[in-house]
Amino acid sequence: MNLFFLTLRQIFLTSIGLIVLPSSYLCHAQKAKAYPKNIIFLIGDGMGLSQISAGMVYQGGDLQLARFKSIGFIKTQSSDNFITDSGAGATAFSIGVKTYNGAIGVDSLKNSKPTVLEMAEEQGLSTGLVATCAMTHATPASFIAHQPKRSLEEAIAYDYTKTDVDVVIGGGMHYFNSRTDGKNLIDTLKQKGYEVVDSTVDFSLLNSSKFYAFTNSYHLPTMKEGRGGFSEKASLKAIDVLSKNKKGFFLMIEGSQIDWGGHSNDADYIAREMVDFDKTIGAVLDWAMRDKNTLVLVTADHETGGLALNSGSIKNKTFTGAFTSKEHTGVMVPVFAYGPGADSFTGIYENTEIFTKLTELMFVK
Ligand code: MG
Ligand code: ZN
Repeated sequence: MNLFFLTLRQIFLTSIGLIVLPSSYLCHAQKAKAYPKNIIFLIGDGMGLSQISAGMVYQGGDLQLARFKSIGFIKTQSSDNFITDSGAGATAFSIGVKTYNGAIGVDSLKNSKPTVLEMAEEQGLSTGLVATCAMTHATPASFIAHQPKRSLEEAIAYDYTKTDVDVVIGGGMHYFNSRTDGKNLIDTLKQKGYEVVDSTVDFSLLNSSKFYAFTNSYHLPTMKEGRGGFSEKASLKAIDVLSKNKKGFFLMIEGSQIDWGGHSNDADYIAREMVDFDKTIGAVLDWAMRDKNTLVLVTADHETGGLALNSGSIKNKTFTGAFTSKEHTGVMVPVFAYGPGADSFTGIYENTEIFTKLTELMFVK
């Protein structure tokens, strides 16, 4: 009896299974495209393949970037030049259109367009910006400000007060509190509910969910000058605060000074900044691997210096760099993606598609 009963039960379950199985398969197929809850977007300013190789050599062959499996390339040209600047380069990422060199969050006709960070705020996500330069500099500015010229750093600082970005860590306090118009934007930010601290306070100890931590009046020191672990520490602090939002977050982290090593044709400057950025990437990736709902995207706005590695030794951690330019160059730069949606970033495409792909993953679920 028992055996008979079990057999019937098994037949029953199997028949249910036969009906359920195909529809659950269909359901699974429809959900094949994965969507991230959080996005961490890391930009290595001036970071081409040679800069990444320089960082690899300085780390004796190791590279956190080697942990990524979804890899692509982007074309970096701006609307008016084969060679982009960092304003047009970051604006291509932030608003998704090719614009002229020097533009900050505006299209080629100088019209403001909502940035991916502003769109994230609109959707109730938390947002943050971390950089190793003044926060009014072209790359971070392009995610939050809308100005016709990158040199308008006081106007860019004022644009920060018009947004609801949650966490800002970097330099540039001068443009907020020592302005030619006499305004003190630090007071404005405090009135808006932010905690605002300078370098006398250890930002990693802050308990606020909305804060600005200004580490410097202008830019941060170079790695050689002793910037230490700022980038990793600031990035992990931002993630810690932003990840408390159940809806998710968008965080942009810039390795700002790889570019400046390129402009000064200083291979050692480039390699040290690249190692620092790579370490930050590793720490962010560790967090994202634990979280499992985060897309980590790493790319560059352009290459700087036309750097080549003409000789070297990975064992001795040395190389001889040669430069073709003191400016940016027009070569494609790599894109590395990890996490839900990472597959969207393989292939060769225009820099503006970073915005298209990011917003589709974030907002067209
Ligand atoms: Mg930059
Ligand atoms: Zn540059």
